[in-house]
Amino acid sequence: MFKDEEQKLEKYDVIIVGTGVAGLFTALSISPNYKVLIVSKDKIENSDSYLAQGGICTLKEPGDFDSFLEDTLRAGRYENNQDSVRVMIENSPMIMERLVEYGVEFDLNKDGTYEYTREGAHSTYRILHHKDVTGKEITNKLLACVKKRQNITLREYTKMIDIIIEDNVCRGVIMSYKNEVRPFFAREVVLATGGIGGLFTHSTNFRHITGDSFALALRHGIKLQNINYIQIHPTTLYEKDINRKFLISESVRGEGGILLNKAGERFVDELLPRDVVTDAIKKQMEADGRSFVMLSIKHMPKEEIIRRFPNIYRHCREVGYDLAKEDIPVTPAQHYLMGGILADTYGRTSVEHLFAVGETACNGVHGANRLASNSLLESLVFAERAGWIISEEIDNIPYVQSEVSLDRYENTEKWDEENRQIIMDEIKRRDREFYDKWCDQ
Ligand SMILES: Cc1cc2nc3c(=O)[nH]c(=O)nc-3n(C[C@H](O)[C@H](O)[C@H](O)COP(=O)(O)OP(=O)(O)OC[C@H]3O[C@@H](n4cnc5c(N)ncnc54)[C@H](O)[C@@H]3O)c2cc1C
Repeated sequence: MFKDEEQKLEKYDVIIVGTGVAGLFTALSISPNYKVLIVSKDKIENSDSYLAQGGICTLKEPGDFDSFLEDTLRAGRYENNQDSVRVMIENSPMIMERLVEYGVEFDLNKDGTYEYTREGAHSTYRILHHKDVTGKEITNKLLACVKKRQNITLREYTKMIDIIIEDNVCRGVIMSYKNEVRPFFAREVVLATGGIGGLFTHSTNFRHITGDSFALALRHGIKLQNINYIQIHPTTLYEKDINRKFLISESVRGEGGILLNKAGERFVDELLPRDVVTDAIKKQMEADGRSFVMLSIKHMPKEEIIRRFPNIYRHCREVGYDLAKEDIPVTPAQHYLMGGILADTYGRTSVEHLFAVGETACNGVHGANRLASNSLLESLVFAERAGWIISEEIDNIPYVQSEVSLDRYENTEKWDEENRQIIMDEIKRRDREFYDKWCDQ
């Protein structure tokens, strides 16, 4: 009980959980008149946003609207929420302008125009990028802006353990900070905790991104949608005994990289949607009796590979492969969650004053499968809208400090293990075939 320890209570107008692009952009979109706390479970920079390589989609000209929409819907097997997709595409040029205002630099052609790239299932070049470290560029620049804002407090190694909900109204979060578990109260709470990769043995995600918000949603009855819609990325570097797999971006295939079987033959159209390529690789691995297939980009001149994919080239060199001279072994791994906490196009969830943005939210943009490079864009568009609506309504929201018992959080390791089990059980319940294929290993 914290009633007698008032000095330990902290209160904010808004608490944002997560320092990836979704959390940071929400913080920047909230009026500076409000006191905001933004926290990360780990080091601030350790978000999946930081790892994004390929780039960020945008509507490069009005004439591309229909084809951008169609590519997104086709990749999502037409299970997408079309309104959300339209909102995302319509807002994309404004988001790019905002990013540039915040200092983000995208690669340019020699004539000073933007250099667009292409990835699987895109019918045209519409992806802006900063070399092959687009996520790092965007996250660093947003973080620098957040640090300058007087109204925002940033804390790392601060972990959300639970959400405080009373009569379907969110009042704050329970967090563990400096080895102490305590309540933090707020008028509005934003969940931006990313996906669930850390629950999988093999994933491209950081190990600490373990879907905590989803376990809490299941514990509290917050509505989820499509939590079993999980994307497996077809090409991560095959390295024995490494759990966090290094991603070989789709744009490597977009720039002409080919996949080869044991006999050195192509076996799939590399630019088909991710799930189709993943299935083809899995079948080929079984046929070859190996845990990988080969990816070749040798047709590209070395200087071009280094210019275009410096991060991938460097990482491969570090583990012993020269992309310019040899093929590299690749294998599929968990990569992205299309489902999540059900949210509208302003990030509002089924609980009052509780928002979900970024990979944590499911607003239906991605349908059953995400189109490459749509997730950074989706995170930013809906984070900004959450920031707007929060700024608009917050003055009318009372600040309520509920009584909270902390007894159940005494054993946080047990709590975390239960969380993992809760999510895995839900995935199994919803899609046994997927669970057996990818989760039970
Ligand atoms: C290797 C890789 C490459 C990618 N490439 C691209 C790309 O080229 N283009 C694209 O559009 N998308 C790409 N993606 C996907 C994209 O990066 C993510 O979907 C997106 O950045 C998610 O952002 P986010 O802010 O929602 O979550 P994240 O960036 O994952 O941030 C989650 C945050 O929540 C914090 N957190 C989690 N749990 C808790 C807790 N309990 N308490 C406190 N804090 C918590 C974490 O510490 C972190 O700060 C890629 C993803 C990966 C992994």
